[in-house]
Amino acid sequence: MSHTVETDVVVMGGGIAGLWLFRTLHTLGYRAVLLEQDSLGGGQTIKSQGIVHGGTKYTLTGQLTNASQAIAGMPERWRNALAGHGEAGDPDLRSARILSDYHYLWSPGDIGSRMTSFFASKALRGRVDALSKAQFPAIFQHDGFRGKVYQLNEIVLDIATVTRALVQGLEAYIIKVDWREHGNARLVTDTKSSIEAVELTNEQNQKVLLKAQRFVMAAGEGTQSLLHTLEISEPAMQLRPLHMVMVRHRHPEPIYAHCLGITPLPRMTITSHPDSDGQWVWYLGGGIAEDGVKQSAEELIATAKKELQALLPWVDLTNAQWDTLRINRAEPKQNRLLRPDAAFCQPVGNTIVTWPTKLALAPNLSDEVIRQLQADHIHPTTNDSDLILDGFPQPDIYPNFWQGCFGDDAVGETP
Ligand SMILES: Cc1cc2nc3c(=O)[nH]c(=O)nc-3n(C[C@H](O)[C@H](O)[C@H](O)COP(=O)(O)OP(=O)(O)OC[C@H]3O[C@@H](n4cnc5c(N)ncnc54)[C@H](O)[C@@H]3O)c2cc1C
Repeated sequence: MSHTVETDVVVMGGGIAGLWLFRTLHTLGYRAVLLEQDSLGGGQTIKSQGIVHGGTKYTLTGQLTNASQAIAGMPERWRNALAGHGEAGDPDLRSARILSDYHYLWSPGDIGSRMTSFFASKALRGRVDALSKAQFPAIFQHDGFRGKVYQLNEIVLDIATVTRALVQGLEAYIIKVDWREHGNARLVTDTKSSIEAVELTNEQNQKVLLKAQRFVMAAGEGTQSLLHTLEISEPAMQLRPLHMVMVRHRHPEPIYAHCLGITPLPRMTITSHPDSDGQWVWYLGGGIAEDGVKQSAEELIATAKKELQALLPWVDLTNAQWDTLRINRAEPKQNRLLRPDAAFCQPVGNTIVTWPTKLALAPNLSDEVIRQLQADHIHPTTNDSDLILDGFPQPDIYPNFWQGCFGDDAVGETP
């Protein structure tokens, strides 16, 4: 025997895209259920650097112009949500932790002088400020530092706390699914490319047919296998790998900055994340992580040590712990150079296939899905009192990206 539960939207995937959308749908009064197969926020989301990009990085590569308004508006959108007065439907993220109010950009040596006029240009006015030495963040106040520092209007977030804020109070509508044979979840398809329902089996072995007006794929890299199950070939997904470096150490000052190199891609992007003992884990991405894909962990760590010694020689990393992390960025397949200026959302039958392409663009993705729902006359039913899903397992929230690294498993929750 199975009973049917009718919903407006089933969201598949509990990364930043799925969670922001799911929270917003509930706030607007939609009946929404979220299905996560592993842990909440545990994919690209927790492994991101947590920077709410406003697009400045892409103006360097020529990928963006001033016309790219979607990403330019994201820092303000997030700041409002973090202050608890987001736009209609946006989540209240007051309990999330801001690691840095600004991200910075620094140029070692004389590259900076060439960049100054570029940053003063119209396209970037109000988004990039050159700082005087007295305004430098503490990490650049050392005598050994020669170069320029710019302040970007981009926040850096402790992502596990954002995930927690998005989930809080909605646990009853989140289910941990196992799609494997003999698992608790199965896609029921009627015609090709269309989902009739998700058949769920609870811990008492009762079956529930979860129906929805729209099924949203927000499963990051996992969207590929969902598309495959539905025999959907368009849109297609592409993966772009990164090999990130982590260094845990006792230097007291955090750093949140892109280091400019001779190519438009930042030579290195460093963010800092506190562990439960109050030590910083510096997380190194950008050019070093793109080039590092071809390197072994040992080779990449050797490169990173040399780079940090050259760029920040006053930072003593003698007793630091090092590790690396391989992770893919999942995105829509595109022939042209990727323009990460807006989230990707494409309807296919009763499914909407999404990739935010950037953490920062989660609100933009949510806007677009809701716009598509409204265009299809799918409006909130405002009553979820009978939306009862008993006896299902709940996914955990993934605590931090370095969990299981540095040779130990028990690093603990981000404070
Ligand atoms: C190293 C790195 C650094 C980055 N830094 C930044 C940054 O600083 N700023 C920025 O804006 N962007 C950044 N990004 C990009 C950003 O992280 C991603 O665009 C964003 O997190 C993608 O979110 P998502 O929800 O689509 O995917 P994910 O976070 O990957 O979430 C997908 C979720 O779906 C679940 N799932 C998978 N398959 C299924 C299934 N079949 N059923 C149910 N659930 C499923 C997964 O378990 C996972 O929880 C970075 C990316 C990387 C890799």
